[in-house]
Amino acid sequence: MELLIKNGHLIDPEANRDGIHDILIKDGIIDIVAGKSKNIVTDSVDKVIDAKGLYVMPGFVDLHVHFRDPGLTYKETVKSGSHAAAAGGYTSVFCMPNTKPVIDSVENYELLTNIIKCDSHINVYPVGAVTKGQQGNELAEIEDMADMGMKAISEDGKSVMNSAIYRRAMNIAKEKNITVFAHCEDINLVEGGVMNAGKRADELGLPGISNAVEDIITARDILLAKETGVKLHLCHCSTKDSVFMVKAAKEAGVAVTAEVCPHHFTLSDEDIPGDDANYKMNPPLRSREDVEALLNGLNEGIIEVISTDHAPHSAEEKSGSMKNAPFGIVGLETSFALSYSELVCKGVLSLPGLVRCMSTNPAKIAGIDRGSLAEGKIADIVIVDLDREYKIDPSSFRSKGRNTPFGGRTVRGKVVKTIVNGYEVYSEE
Ligand SMILES: [Zn+2]
Repeated sequence: MELLIKNGHLIDPEANRDGIHDILIKDGIIDIVAGKSKNIVTDSVDKVIDAKGLYVMPGFVDLHVHFRDPGLTYKETVKSGSHAAAAGGYTSVFCMPNTKPVIDSVENYELLTNIIKCDSHINVYPVGAVTKGQQGNELAEIEDMADMGMKAISEDGKSVMNSAIYRRAMNIAKEKNITVFAHCEDINLVEGGVMNAGKRADELGLPGISNAVEDIITARDILLAKETGVKLHLCHCSTKDSVFMVKAAKEAGVAVTAEVCPHHFTLSDEDIPGDDANYKMNPPLRSREDVEALLNGLNEGIIEVISTDHAPHSAEEKSGSMKNAPFGIVGLETSFALSYSELVCKGVLSLPGLVRCMSTNPAKIAGIDRGSLAEGKIADIVIVDLDREYKIDPSSFRSKGRNTPFGGRTVRGKVVKTIVNGYEVYSEE
């Protein structure tokens, strides 16, 4: 099977390519990448894609999605989530273990792996839980799941509050050379909060979540990573001080990396129009000052990853007050356009810088051989139209979830095609 992508503007920071190239893919592998001066000669090509005027990049890698499968499939399934991912330009995603059952054992890991094999046309990597049932008391079967190919563990949705248990998990992760994805939240300090603590929460009469809820555990996790030497990846950083601490930790030689979600750098709590649960996520939309710090963190390379924290819920669940609705918004189908509009168009990141954050860096952190389109690499590719301006329309989402605060927002940058292992898995109609 041969596929030729012609005339596209290739952005591949890892291979140091930024310009018009033709790409020949043979049996799912990048065979030849040819710049202007070279011509690809082949007479056995099965399909040609003309990417004139479009940008070709390594497929996006999302370290943080919730596919709700098994058990909560009315919200999302591996199948619908994979379709949403492909439509968003994602070729690899890491799904969090807070499903029913929790992915905490060999048995449950295998259950999910089998669903993925049957239902997904992109690369879906299960992330295992840190503790059994995410109850925080007893370690999950981390070693055995790692032996089955698991790349990371996470208690996402909460933190392991018992530091001794968390440290034991980190020691195992270090030994197995897998990464710990950390959701940082001091649950005792939340006290019923549903949005960022501050003026806007007071105005709306809603209970607040202070920055310290996140920052205290961020500090603890960094200190535990320093002690154990484990690779620590901080999920969805939202505060000014988390950026400050990641910077300090990196300078001190701790193996820490950090991600930010598009909603956290696009909106602040001032943008919350009222008691609307589509603005409820964990961590919450923070202050303008925090948003500025996150943008600065991206610009300076302190934050190296953009993840979605794609968290679908039913319309019914999200219809009431923030006080009762579950946390989370969908993100896979809006992530690239929001990131391009807010970061590249506004000069926070260069286009290659954005590709690093959405593909190259997350692939490296998770230890998967993706995120580059150099010769010999797997052909996971996204093709985008950067000139296209459009309004986000949640009713067009492939995801079962429509819970987003971005409906009707004008953005720039549209995913046109997504290719996994050399096969087209998404094409814009
Ligand atoms: Zn989380």
